[in-house]
Amino acid sequence: ASIFGAIDMAPRDPILGITEAFNADTNPQKTNLGVGVYYDDEGKVPLLNCVRKAEEVLMEQRAPRTYLPIEGLASYDKAVQELVFGADSAVIQEKRAVTVQALGGTGALKIGADFLKRFAPDAQVFISDPSWENHRALFESAGFTVNNYTYYDPATHGVNFAGMTAALEAMPRGSIVVLHACCHNPTGADLTAAQWEQVIAIVVARGLVPFLDMAYQGFGSGIAEDGAVVRKFAATGVPLLVSNSFSKSFSLYGERVGALSVVAASHEEAARLLSQLKRIVRTNYSNPPTHGGKVVAAVLTTPELRQLWESELAQMRVRIKEMRDQFVERLKLKAPGRDFEFVRQQVGMFSYSGLTKEQVHRLRDEFSIYAVDTGRICVAALNSKNIERVIDAIAKVL
Ligand code: PLP
Repeated sequence: ASIFGAIDMAPRDPILGITEAFNADTNPQKTNLGVGVYYDDEGKVPLLNCVRKAEEVLMEQRAPRTYLPIEGLASYDKAVQELVFGADSAVIQEKRAVTVQALGGTGALKIGADFLKRFAPDAQVFISDPSWENHRALFESAGFTVNNYTYYDPATHGVNFAGMTAALEAMPRGSIVVLHACCHNPTGADLTAAQWEQVIAIVVARGLVPFLDMAYQGFGSGIAEDGAVVRKFAATGVPLLVSNSFSKSFSLYGERVGALSVVAASHEEAARLLSQLKRIVRTNYSNPPTHGGKVVAAVLTTPELRQLWESELAQMRVRIKEMRDQFVERLKLKAPGRDFEFVRQQVGMFSYSGLTKEQVHRLRDEFSIYAVDTGRICVAALNSKNIERVIDAIAKVL
């Protein structure tokens, strides 16, 4: 028999499956709340003006498409480091951080996972329960055993903080703990600043290896505010990995722009880490693509484009908050006695709405409204035109 003869069908990606079902639905009023993408009030994925302007300049330059260095565009890596750690941070001043351009946040996580597997092969990985679905798969495919730590509390629709700290305390020394730096996906439930302080103290005391995943910087409270957790971790001096993504914050999903940053104990150690990260990149895809990195670097380093980006990102953030407010206020009227106030407390693009699987299926079958079976909805897919219909439907299935 051929080597392919015995290969099984791989399981379908649950979220992409929702989009397939949505695309096949002929109801003109259909709504997809199952996505992980920001839509504007017109229901479109925006092309940010800062991106368009940066692209116009790039087009004019008609630059040849040579290979980038293995670690990516130098100006991009530098700008990312300053964005993630703060330009005045000690890790940058002491040249202890290394950053490699990566294929989105996913690519950054994968390089980080492969790197950790090579140098901490026996460590266990812990991800939040629940987490972005791909965290488990990524770290398992790098060869790690992946465990959950307590995170979400369905009773409060917030964080089970006592459970989380107990789980952190119980992890073997040297365990890799994946933390969402802001705007937790899928729940929308984040820690408070005071809770982060406690988590950091435990991570340091127990010798855990923090891997901060930041895919939504700027979607919570602001660019600097959302990055504060990374800076606090960096200030402790522990070994630290940070993956970040510009897919959402620049609306550049398909360009695959992200980065992995690793903080070392010294500049000399950082140089060794970078050489090993480059080896991993080299044996996977040699070097990253040029376009997205050039666009993001230009926006981050050109003052007027930077300002434009910050204001466009603020608009996205404010619109999501507005949709959260409307969600709560409208449901108050349509479903009196039910409390959805927690949707206003949650942050980022998502909400664990508390809708059950049965309710999600009724929304799909009776109203052509698509959400994830877990009850996760993308608040950023709500807009002034679809929200009334969505709220009416939710009130009917409650
Ligand atoms: N990490 C989290 C928590 C995410 O939600 C996502 C995307 O949805 C990513 C990483 C991956 O981002 P990217 O699309 O840039 O690969």
